[in-house]
Amino acid sequence: MRAHATPEQVSAVCRKIESLGLRPHSIPGAERTAIGITGNKGAVEPGALDDMPGVQEVIRVTKPFKLVSREIKPDNTVITFPGCDASIGGKALAIIAGPCGIESREQAFAIADRVSRAGAQFFRGGAYKPRTSPYSFQGLGEEALLIMAEVRETFGLRIVTEAVDHSSLELVEEYADVIQIGARNMQNFSLLKLAGRARKPVLLKRGMSATLEEFLMAAEYIMSEGNYSVILCERGVRTFADHTRNTLDLSLIPAVQRLSHLPILVDPSHGTGKRNKVTPMSRAAVAVGADGLIVEVHNQPDQALSDGVQSRYPEQFDELMAQVRQIAPVVGRTVPGIGAATMPLAAARLDAQNASTN
Ligand code: PEP
Ligand code: MN
Repeated sequence: MRAHATPEQVSAVCRKIESLGLRPHSIPGAERTAIGITGNKGAVEPGALDDMPGVQEVIRVTKPFKLVSREIKPDNTVITFPGCDASIGGKALAIIAGPCGIESREQAFAIADRVSRAGAQFFRGGAYKPRTSPYSFQGLGEEALLIMAEVRETFGLRIVTEAVDHSSLELVEEYADVIQIGARNMQNFSLLKLAGRARKPVLLKRGMSATLEEFLMAAEYIMSEGNYSVILCERGVRTFADHTRNTLDLSLIPAVQRLSHLPILVDPSHGTGKRNKVTPMSRAAVAVGADGLIVEVHNQPDQALSDGVQSRYPEQFDELMAQVRQIAPVVGRTVPGIGAATMPLAAARLDAQNASTN
């Protein structure tokens, strides 16, 4: 649509698309709204839409992924969160930090306090953990979601947590601000479709052997159901390299950015599996143009119930943030200020609580 197309013009085009038996996807952008059309078997006759008021041009998307593609929406997607200035995909880097899994209220609060002071605006933590062994810690489930809701309330951090199946997705949608779909579920198409009907943004991690096209097609599954707030995440792929847990494929970032308008983050924790490689790869991720980072941080990594060896200590996360703050302006990005997410009242309450218990 043209830059100044009115909402009435946008909805008239959507109705016209519906009357042709097709599905319209109205995706707002900073400058203009793009309307994707799906459900067609062959080319749509452009004549039906070309001359409608507000229409700038009708283009045929040549790629197999349609709604994900920059052909349909040239400007970057920026995902915003009501009630705060956190965003993903804009000039400011999105920093997500927290433990692999939520293990207790004390653990979650201790880590949330530190990462929010360091400038993270998002708190990660698994309530449902997809583990290689059925005997490993599987997550605290809804109890963890309740703890994270309290973390949001106390620190003003937005919550990112993984859904592993249909029933957990419903609960995660209720409690979280961002629904994570893990690497192991990147091609769980029924879960992707369900996430596509959710009303919260979805953080989609790249499968450990997924090609770029498979990754973008997985995002297309989500968008095709009407959820246009999708965040991609590179978290390393399986290779013959054995000095790291996975090989962090940073060349994916510019490749995705050429093809898609969706934001893309980097997970240097799962991407390397080694605590001492997380900060250097965070610097590299920011330098290559990633829209943000998702980093595992633990206050007692040697006692963590999952992924302790790749978790940064809080003071190491401070150091990571200090370095990222230096790299960011070189590539035209900003980093949220120290304690960016912390609500002053909540912080004061917490300090008072600490003072009375110490
Ligand atoms: C995680 O973020 O804790 C996780 C399990 O990630 P991935 O799906 O990338 O392995
Ligand atoms: Mn983990």
